[in-house]
Amino acid sequence: MTPARPVQFGIMEKLPDINKVVRQHAEMNDFLSGGFAVREKIPAHEESDTGGSNTDAQIELDGIADEVRQCRKCQLGSLRTNAVPGEGNPDAQIFFIGEGPGAEEDARGRPFVGRAGQLLDKIIAAMKLKRSDVFIGNILKCRPPGNRDPKPDEIVSCLPYLQRQIEVITPSIIVALGAHAARTLLNTNKPIGQLRGRFQEYVPGFGKAPIKLMPTYHPAYLLRNYSHDNRRRVWEDMKKVLAELGLPVPG
Ligand code: URA
Repeated sequence: MTPARPVQFGIMEKLPDINKVVRQHAEMNDFLSGGFAVREKIPAHEESDTGGSNTDAQIELDGIADEVRQCRKCQLGSLRTNAVPGEGNPDAQIFFIGEGPGAEEDARGRPFVGRAGQLLDKIIAAMKLKRSDVFIGNILKCRPPGNRDPKPDEIVSCLPYLQRQIEVITPSIIVALGAHAARTLLNTNKPIGQLRGRFQEYVPGFGKAPIKLMPTYHPAYLLRNYSHDNRRRVWEDMKKVLAELGLPVPG
């Protein structure tokens, strides 16, 4: 057998950052093994890090966000502390879409920054991605009181903002987090347990190319049902997303 050759790195090639590889591996294990350390808040300098360079798209997204902050199309507009338009990379390949802001998101005007958000951060880190690589938004941009389910008229009023965000970002894959996001975007009433785990198609509009959509469990559902099987299911779903994008799939 030929002895394995040591890996050679060309002068211009980057050496792997061993600390980063070790940290990412630990993050994936942490997610799968059920460790749920509450992470520190994202430092202020990262808060507005959109990670992208597409200024035209960023300008359009900023315009949509301004409209959302002025919006009074439904009753939630007068009940919110802050609207939560969504944030992230205007060139994102993956758009994570949740249901609507909770208390922490309403207080800070940013999506997925409460407990469910900390779990979403873990999932993203386990995928060897950063928040600034992806875009994160919601079906509803304002918090329903007491975190109740979105009402149909609220979804109808709010959905055009999300549809425009999807159109600007044109992600390769949408990850629908939970039943409300999946059912709304797929226009179906099927339970999330039936929808998750298989690529579906989001149709942006007549004559427009469909976008692959992976429904999975909402991180808040995972927190309430924190079994190894459920974590494994979400992780399997995310591995399919990475494979579809041609990105490395951690073991
Ligand atoms: N749950 C959601 O669906 N969205 C958020 O932004 C936070 C919690």
